[in-house]
Amino acid sequence: MKVPLLLPQFLDRAVKLYGEKTAVIDELKEFTYAEVNERVNQLSRGLRELGIEKGDRVAYLAPNSSEMYEGFYGVLQLGAVIVPLNTRLIPDDYVYILNHSETKALFVDHELYSQIEPVADQLKTVKTIIVHGLEISGDGLVAYEQWLSQYEKHEIDRPEMEEDDLATLLYTSGTTGKPKGVMLTHRSNYLHALASMHHLRVSDRDVLLHVLPMFHVNGWGSPFYYTANGATQVCLRKVLPADIFKKLNDYGVTVMHMAPTVLNSLLQFSEVNGFTKQPQDIRIVIAGSAPPPAFVKRVEEELKWEFIQVYGMTEASPLITTSIIRDTQEHLKPEEKYRLKAKAGYQFIGSDVRVFNELGEEVKHNSQEIGEIAVRGNGVMEGYWNNQEGTDEVIRGGWYYTGDMAVVDKDGNIEIADRKKDIIISGGENISSIEVEGVLYDHPAVQEVAVISVPHEKWGETPQAIVVIKDGLLTSEEELIAFARSKLAHFKAPTKVIFADELPKTASGKIQKVHLRKEFWKEKE
Ligand code: ATP
Ligand code: MG
Repeated sequence: MKVPLLLPQFLDRAVKLYGEKTAVIDELKEFTYAEVNERVNQLSRGLRELGIEKGDRVAYLAPNSSEMYEGFYGVLQLGAVIVPLNTRLIPDDYVYILNHSETKALFVDHELYSQIEPVADQLKTVKTIIVHGLEISGDGLVAYEQWLSQYEKHEIDRPEMEEDDLATLLYTSGTTGKPKGVMLTHRSNYLHALASMHHLRVSDRDVLLHVLPMFHVNGWGSPFYYTANGATQVCLRKVLPADIFKKLNDYGVTVMHMAPTVLNSLLQFSEVNGFTKQPQDIRIVIAGSAPPPAFVKRVEEELKWEFIQVYGMTEASPLITTSIIRDTQEHLKPEEKYRLKAKAGYQFIGSDVRVFNELGEEVKHNSQEIGEIAVRGNGVMEGYWNNQEGTDEVIRGGWYYTGDMAVVDKDGNIEIADRKKDIIISGGENISSIEVEGVLYDHPAVQEVAVISVPHEKWGETPQAIVVIKDGLLTSEEELIAFARSKLAHFKAPTKVIFADELPKTASGKIQKVHLRKEFWKEKE
């Protein structure tokens, strides 16, 4: 008999196999899998009494926390749909997303309640707001712990569910524009979780530190596959390097997923505080966003952590490729391994990933021919919520077109060139902003850099670098331009460098070039 693939099965497995093991550790509290399961059942009962039924949307506005973790399973076993909200948006954005998704109940952490309170009366469909960590009551306002404690802890009767039922409505990061509601099913998340646990070799010895926000697709997916394997999950509320290193030591953390910008800040912190003191239990650190080989080398040689690159997007659950070195490549020299690890890598199990040129043909391998990455497979979304036009723009002929440009090497290894929107077209030549950034990162004074396209009278567009310098070091525009020219074709080197104290980033740590470009391209963005 065919059994539908449903996400609550992951917690069911953990409770049976690892019931007495610590499941989740929050700032001051921790729960075993058996305890979490009881709280999850209480939560589902409470939601049912609030009128939440299969298919209804329930939103979370919370930092990484045990409450958010419980929410995953408490909402999903009712057949309801989770809408995780980015904690760095402004109140108007919450009004937009909550109304757009027609959310019925909203969970808010006490630290974020001030973002909702002033706009609560603009929420058209939210009937109840449940606040974590605050004694509060009022019309449609509930204090979480008090509310939860009223309900029984034993299993609930789950509704009939199909694997194609919607599990989550995840709004994209908004790196390139207004967030879009990505519809993901139980099946897509389930199969993505299976592929991830295989590729990342997740086991019950793992202790995961949730550095990526749980509301972001990558942080959102991991509580499924680490739970299924009975790993312990430590929640990080705020990303502060000193606190991260403390938690690594305190809990014997073995694995972290994070944006390279955060990993970069850990490298800086270690450089100042002495690399030798860093914890060594870490098995792997997983990051996306195309860091250059020099960065991979620093992570592996200075921090002594194994680096794995992953590539994906909200629309694909998210991961579709990874840079794991094959067993038969163990003989490669370290420098060659770093070069391989800096590429997005090979397709994930369950994803068919290809790169197509403008004629719709696959680009030739090992040719430097550039094309757009497309994917079809288990993780790909059903579409954007209430946005058929947006969906039809990106899903064409059964493929999801990612908007990311890449070349393919002789082994079929994908190397991201750039986002389509970030490529700089200067005098008819394509320049990858990522390639130019990679070179500038080799300069000893550069802490962080973004290269963007700005208008140019003669060439149409030209690369410009915005640079954050390391504390206590000096450099100049002339020096950085000369440095880039010594390592790149002249037309690729930036023609202007400006310095900044910091770069604008999304909550998951991605640099928002759209904001940096704004002042130069008023009519284009
Ligand atoms: P929006 O779609 O709202 O503009 P976003 O695309 O940043 O935001 P996400 O789904 O969080 O939202 O991010 C996916 C994108 O991140 C990919 O399409 C790609 O451009 C970039 N990315 C992810 N992993 C990598 C990687 N390993 N290398 C390079 N870029 C990556
Ligand atoms: Mg995107």
